[in-house]
Amino acid sequence: METLLYDKTENCPVCRRDFSSKKVRSRKLVIVEKQDDLNIVYKDVNPLYYQILVCPECGYTGIESEFEDISPIHKKLFDDTVRYKWKQRSYGNVRTVDEAIECYKLALLMAQLFKKPKSYVGNICLKLAWIYRELQSEKEEEYLKYALNNLQDAYQGERLDSASVSEMTTAYIVAELNRRFGNYRESIVWYAKVLDNPEIKNNRQLQLKTREQWRLAKEQHDQQKNAV
Ligand SMILES: [Zn+2]
Repeated sequence: METLLYDKTENCPVCRRDFSSKKVRSRKLVIVEKQDDLNIVYKDVNPLYYQILVCPECGYTGIESEFEDISPIHKKLFDDTVRYKWKQRSYGNVRTVDEAIECYKLALLMAQLFKKPKSYVGNICLKLAWIYRELQSEKEEEYLKYALNNLQDAYQGERLDSASVSEMTTAYIVAELNRRFGNYRESIVWYAKVLDNPEIKNNRQLQLKTREQWRLAKEQHDQQKNAV
């Protein structure tokens, strides 16, 4: 486990202190299972645990890829609402599942405070749901529903190419979550959006997976109709 992780020094864009956070050597990861909603289960370590950075000094938290992006207005907002209440604590060691959940909850809190795009919020909710899945917690479903609502709104109202989840992947996840919740008719519409995207030609794996799940949703839809 230790060889899969290493320490990286980060700099907090709010208080400008350096701090250490674990990173995952992704090339060393061994895949155990690829799940239908694109969650990947790995042997020994869950890389999702380490995608959120938390500054131990001031509490500023964000997804690693967008950690630096904070405007002066948001800094002030953060100082007035979170920073003065923050009790110093570090998430810089190997994280337990409970610590990983705390990191995602902090990231959600910041996302709401800074009114981050719904794609960003949906992405955090999805990953948090996947962590709850490991625990077989009923919270998984709660966060999958938040993810579905946010990603569906994001697809319809936000530009997604620069966001952490691309347009096709977002449509696929919306389709798959709708199917999971028994909304077969909606899921079929969303799988079609993935297959109609001109970019799908460049993602053969997603294309095949979408066709497979689309057929499954159609079968489930027919079964549901026949049962009534
Ligand atoms: Zn800080």
